[in-house]
Amino acid sequence: MATDKNEIFEIIEKPQVGRCLRATRNIEPLEVILVEMPAVIGPHHSSTPVCVQCLREHSGEYYCTDCNLPLCDEMCREEEEHLEECSELAAITKLSKGTEHVLMNLLAYRIYKLKENGVPIWNPISELMDHTEERCQNLEEWKMFQLNTVDVLKQVLTTADDTILHKIIGIIATNSVGFNDKKEMIKGRGIYPTLSLASHDCVCNSRYSVNIEDFSITLRARRLIEEGEEITISYLPSIFGVPKRKTHLEEEWYFQCRCARCMDVTEFGTYVSALKCSHCQEGLILPENCNKDCLWRCRFCMNPFESEFIANFVQNLEDELYAISKSSPTVKDLEGFIKKHSGDLHNKHYLNLIAQRNLIQILSQENKPSKLCIFHTQNVFYTGYIPLL
Ligand SMILES: [Zn+2]
Ligand SMILES: [Zn+2]
Ligand SMILES: [Zn+2]
Ligand SMILES: [Zn+2]
Repeated sequence: MATDKNEIFEIIEKPQVGRCLRATRNIEPLEVILVEMPAVIGPHHSSTPVCVQCLREHSGEYYCTDCNLPLCDEMCREEEEHLEECSELAAITKLSKGTEHVLMNLLAYRIYKLKENGVPIWNPISELMDHTEERCQNLEEWKMFQLNTVDVLKQVLTTADDTILHKIIGIIATNSVGFNDKKEMIKGRGIYPTLSLASHDCVCNSRYSVNIEDFSITLRARRLIEEGEEITISYLPSIFGVPKRKTHLEEEWYFQCRCARCMDVTEFGTYVSALKCSHCQEGLILPENCNKDCLWRCRFCMNPFESEFIANFVQNLEDELYAISKSSPTVKDLEGFIKKHSGDLHNKHYLNLIAQRNLIQILSQENKPSKLCIFHTQNVFYTGYIPLL
């Protein structure tokens, strides 16, 4: 049933999925499908200090004299939005353990204010998925939000109760879109009620970008989308392999992806999740099928591996690569990682692709292209980087 219509897509209700977007005519590759302003913005859940007004990285110099929160300068303090929320933020600051807790709760506070002030955009936000039923099963996380967010905000937002605040926390966890512009040093997240209706597909047919000037998103077709086709985005970076995608999608969005890529154990022959077998030194280890928690097996010697073992193994290597990448790595560091794990990871494994991409980034900053640079560039193209997934 169509519930809303514009010229390119309509919002439909799909059994077991809920509302989603469907093309009402053919959409050409790169054609703009949607431009949407955020309904509300705020800092990330775990954010380093940012200006509460414009979300720019904080210099550590200027704080609001009333609410004590980080701001760029007097100009950001004088903005109407800040003046409106300053006294309540001051009260929240007094009740919170520190600035990071206030920043963590700022988006939830701002969303509740839309409801309290009767702003019409609250209606589409309130209809977004919040997964409260699933989220309350995770007692530890639920208690953490109760203590750090609900119990604090309730004292300032006197008309709010536990149910609505947990719902808002769920709406943020399920729907917020993060942005991080390193050049402008602006980072945070926003709620885009229409974009949020786009379903996930690991081979999505559209992609959005955030314009940091006004925080609007632009959603464009990645390929021809035919009339009647569902418009999809990827909730995760496409480069991630199967175990990581499965875990994230299940833990954060509570579903098992059944897209064409997830249903093909070789992921369209890219082998971005494949491992090499250390038993026979010959075969590739791949999932046996596409079911949750299925065994992985070497295709040559048939040696089996539990999916949990594979997920932990890959996660450890990913942590290692992340630690290297975080600490201004040299070409040697990244080459070292690739070499060290060449017996474990297929050469197109996504960790290899990420290591190679990082390598190219370092080499691209060299003034003169060296032999090494040309070698790696060719190698990366040879091994199939620039994934089309
Ligand atoms: Zn600012
Ligand atoms: Zn203030
Ligand atoms: Zn998928
Ligand atoms: Zn084997």
